[in-house]
Amino acid sequence: NNVITLNSRPVGKPQLDNFKFVTEPMPVAGENEVLLKTLYVSVDPYLRGRMNDSKSYVPPFQLHEPIQSGIIAEVIESRHTGFAKGDFVSGSLAWKEFQVSTGKGLSKVDAEAAPLSAYLGAIGMTGLTAYLGLTEIGQPKAGETLVISGAAGAVGSIVGQIGKILGLRVVGIAGTDEKTALLKDRFGFDEAINYKTTSDMKEAIAAACPDGVDIYFDNVGGDISDAVMANLNRFARVPVCGAISLYNTTAAQMGPRLQPILVTRSVLMRGFIVSEFAAKSQEAITQLSSWLKEDKLKYTETIVEGFNNIPGAFMDLFEGKNEGKMVVKI
Ligand code: NDP
Repeated sequence: NNVITLNSRPVGKPQLDNFKFVTEPMPVAGENEVLLKTLYVSVDPYLRGRMNDSKSYVPPFQLHEPIQSGIIAEVIESRHTGFAKGDFVSGSLAWKEFQVSTGKGLSKVDAEAAPLSAYLGAIGMTGLTAYLGLTEIGQPKAGETLVISGAAGAVGSIVGQIGKILGLRVVGIAGTDEKTALLKDRFGFDEAINYKTTSDMKEAIAAACPDGVDIYFDNVGGDISDAVMANLNRFARVPVCGAISLYNTTAAQMGPRLQPILVTRSVLMRGFIVSEFAAKSQEAITQLSSWLKEDKLKYTETIVEGFNNIPGAFMDLFEGKNEGKMVVKI
């Protein structure tokens, strides 16, 4: 059985030698356990934080232990009354081709209702993050202007479309011309800015947002966010979802002090972790699923094939190689 463990903690950008490919004997399901075959593995920016030995909202990965992430698996043998052979399940599982589980933390997913990989993205953790971060903290009102950084990624591409459904003007920021075209042509964003080819981001955002910025959904932090924050309106809301531009930094980053903007414009800036809105998850999934069925919501995935390519797919998130959700198909 193939397994990927954390070989060493990355310093700066993760490298291939931070991971180790090991083999172990094929696991056997005991009583009240299921044997799972991994089908789709989610790679996510937040895993980078778990590779550090630091206190956070989830414990760090242990050295020489398997890495874990969101996984869709098939039950290939069941000795558990709650699961049958052939069921598909989703859960936070180890980077192993096969593994046993007691069923704790697993939820069944319906392969008829949606493609299995969508349960890792649009109707999974990243879709929930988009919906709940925007609605709970962003408090969108029709006619307002929403700016999203990391806009062509898994979370950002869904945030923008929800913004359009709710009647907002939506402006996305992303790192290639292909991505900005995707945002406008496929996802219906009003404007999209390529931050890698734009010299003055503050100006570009002002031009794309003639009425200023009412909601800034921040996935990246750093310089891009400084430029958006300078364009905030009074009573703007800033859901701080992620800060990928800072996850690999090794020295403290300097930037403008935000307090004067927050005070003088009465801005609400709030970080969040999607799990804190667990009470609203079911409502969010129901809404996202029905928008998908009605074709009001679309999603894109970048699917990499092969178990051995999981670390590479993860590392590629930091190079912007994905459009939409990055998923590895085993
Ligand atoms: P994405 O699908 O958006 O993938 C990451 C993208 O980030 C890349 O494609 C790249 O796009 C962009 N990026 C990478 N490096 C940089 C950089 N230095 N500066 C600017 N952009 C960069 O990932 P997700 O949608 O899964 O996650 C987006 C954000 O949301 C992350 O920060 C993540 O940690 C956070 N998150 C937070 C959750 C929560 O509960 N708070 C839950 C899930 C995700 P480009 O080509 O545009 O640079």
